[in-house]
Amino acid sequence: MYHHRLTFESTQNFPVGKAVCVGRNYLDHIQELNNSVPTEPLLFMKGNNAFAFLEENISIPAQGECHNELEVALLVGKTMSHPSEVAIEQCIAGIGLGLDLTLRDKQTEMKSKGYPWERAKAFDGSLPLSKFVSLEQFADLQNITFQLKVNGEQRQSGNTGLMIHSCQQLLQEIVTSFSLYPGDVVLTGTPKGVGPLLPEDELELTLENALTVKTKVKRAAPNV
Ligand code: ZN
Repeated sequence: MYHHRLTFESTQNFPVGKAVCVGRNYLDHIQELNNSVPTEPLLFMKGNNAFAFLEENISIPAQGECHNELEVALLVGKTMSHPSEVAIEQCIAGIGLGLDLTLRDKQTEMKSKGYPWERAKAFDGSLPLSKFVSLEQFADLQNITFQLKVNGEQRQSGNTGLMIHSCQQLLQEIVTSFSLYPGDVVLTGTPKGVGPLLPEDELELTLENALTVKTKVKRAAPNV
């Protein structure tokens, strides 16, 4: 059901690693959920059980309200470790889109108890990813527009220029705690417009004019 290789320009394969994600990196999304602005990047991880292909149907859990979080994803191509200086052009092999699927009610419950988020954020298939394209397609990594349409209506529209912590700052911060290896993916945060996904929803995701992905939502069979 889940895939063990990521495609890069359909030619180059990487092993599937972990995903390091950042919460609250766009002000408009912080405001829509009434959260506080973090002083340092709020980092969390998803394991390789979370990776899935966006091009295939998205499988959401049988129970709970599962929210879309459209995010720009960076594919790590070379090992990055503290304290070496992170050079994006040398270390990032590609850029794409990911959905940081989130069981919002579960997350709210975990947050209120001060518990970790994994059961809300890192479940099987919780990170559908597009293929990755070369960074060279973009003149400025911090000026890329990306969008999500649900059933033809725009639900999320962001620009990487509105990140609180830039890609460079995020990577530099991540490696102080978590070394990054080829095949790891970094999710850079979601803009506003998160909301519940429903079975049979048709999604269209675009990364400027470099990528367009169409996919559909399916609900997983209930556990018995
Ligand atoms: Zn997110």
